[in-house]
Amino acid sequence: MNDNRYVNESIKCSVKSCVHQNSERGYCSLDAITVGTHEPHPTKCQCVDCESFRPAQLKGKKGCKTAP
Ligand code: SF4
Repeated sequence: MNDNRYVNESIKCSVKSCVHQNSERGYCSLDAITVGTHEPHPTKCQCVDCESFRPAQLKGKKGCKTAP
């Protein structure tokens, strides 16, 4: 179970639909995240993803690409 009362002040995040986000403080609660791309040759901001994102509706299940 994720405890997002703790925040990692090195990882600011505004993605409120992620179970790891602390919306009150605007930080991620994980110790580390994985950043990656879904493109073979990323050239734009939207090519880059937080692969540790876990949608709220999947609470208790694995994140999109990696754990945590
Ligand atoms: S896992 Fe990624 S999307 Fe989720 S709160 Fe942390 S930084 Fe934001």
